[in-house]
Amino acid sequence: MKYISTRGQAPALAFEDVVLAGLAEDGGLYVPATLPHFSADEIASWAGLPYRELAFKVIAPFVAEEIADDELRDLIERSYTAFRHPAIAPLVQTGHNEWVLELFQGPTLAFKDFALQFLGNLLDYILKKRNQRVVIMGATSGDTGSAAIEGCRHCENLDIFILHPHNRVSDVQRRQMTTVLDGNVHNIALEGNFDHCQSLVKASFGDQSFLPEDRQLVAVNSINWARIMAQIVYYFYAALALGGPQRPVSFSVPTGNFGDIFAGYLAKRMGLPVDQLVIATNANDILHRCISQNDHSLGELIHSLSPSMDIMVSSNFERMLFDLYDRDGATIAGLMAEFKDTGKLQLSDAALAKARDLFASYRLDDQAMTAVIAELYGSAEYLLDPHTAIGLEAARRTRVRGDIPMICLATAHPAKFPEAVRKAGYPEDPPLPHHMSDLFEREERYSVLPNSLADVQAFIAANIT
Ligand SMILES: *Cc1c(COP(=O)(O)O)cnc(C)c1O
Repeated sequence: MKYISTRGQAPALAFEDVVLAGLAEDGGLYVPATLPHFSADEIASWAGLPYRELAFKVIAPFVAEEIADDELRDLIERSYTAFRHPAIAPLVQTGHNEWVLELFQGPTLAFKDFALQFLGNLLDYILKKRNQRVVIMGATSGDTGSAAIEGCRHCENLDIFILHPHNRVSDVQRRQMTTVLDGNVHNIALEGNFDHCQSLVKASFGDQSFLPEDRQLVAVNSINWARIMAQIVYYFYAALALGGPQRPVSFSVPTGNFGDIFAGYLAKRMGLPVDQLVIATNANDILHRCISQNDHSLGELIHSLSPSMDIMVSSNFERMLFDLYDRDGATIAGLMAEFKDTGKLQLSDAALAKARDLFASYRLDDQAMTAVIAELYGSAEYLLDPHTAIGLEAARRTRVRGDIPMICLATAHPAKFPEAVRKAGYPEDPPLPHHMSDLFEREERYSVLPNSLADVQAFIAANIT
């Protein structure tokens, strides 16, 4: 399978090259040149398959020419062993025909583990095959960093450097990163904010001359195609568990960079009968404004109680635009240039109509969100994390058909966000799951560095193993 850039000017690449490439040379994002499609009969024959076997069915067509079946099975097998629940992605009923898909059973308690456990193993496999070593560099405001570190800690052919803003991530989130003591894991606490972390990472990708000749940087942020691919699986899994593909299901997705819900859209295109796809946002609502008012314009960044969705621009939305504009790369390049210049982008009537046909959207601020946590805890003694709470309420507000199961993606465990849960009236910090209950006793290791490109790059050069 070949992958092409959303801006139409970069060379098409094969799967393994796309995994290492990150952004395309023309600034676009890679997408499959053609999507695999499964017939209703084929999907029906997968009912009852365990998660890993289903993952193999869904992922194989994307990688088949490059990764042999038994190798792929092995990668998938290893990627989901650190999940605590035997179902990997269990469903919990929260209302009439309404379900929460618990995607937080992985090692760092957030859905990002589904993609990053797999990506770590995949990178290790590709790099060994090529006898190559790379450096992973990334910035995090919380969830991505810990999931990336957990995914990469056992990889032999890479070092991972994650920058987080010093004293500005929660204690749980910091400790999930800094208590990983493997020799190839390097945490940098930057004396600055998240934007500073991101600009240093961006500048380093732009000029990699600080690295030894035989090393390159690799990005594991949500624009990496392999992450999206791994996320398609749980849409199939949940739909099949609730009786599909004979009957359609709907999904509501707490959305930031649009990676997660884009995977749901792809599942639909690949043959899964999906009725509604609900984009749920917090006060950082560029996508909700886009769908509801055709207003895709930069706002101010608002720091909310659902910090993993605090974004001004959703980086993966470009992949969606590419399809909304019939895969016309030149048009997307023009639109993205306009957005860069003016901070605004308006969809054509045709593109907007298609987007509205595919997606519903809803926005919740912190106050509305905490009310949802309190309500569901009161009625069902089920504790939601703040991101999932936004998804659940968005589903309830936008739902069209009560007879179609509504599946709300639970993107994090409530113990990761004690502040939000307490604001909702819960009397204590929600307990961490047993396997992490000693998190606050574990040894931490990280380096505090000034907000300086030269210092950070010198640190990386000195610490590569
Ligand atoms: C990353 C994240 C999201 C947003 O996912 P996107 O793929 O960026 O839309 C939502 N909730 C949690 C808990 C996350 O960590």
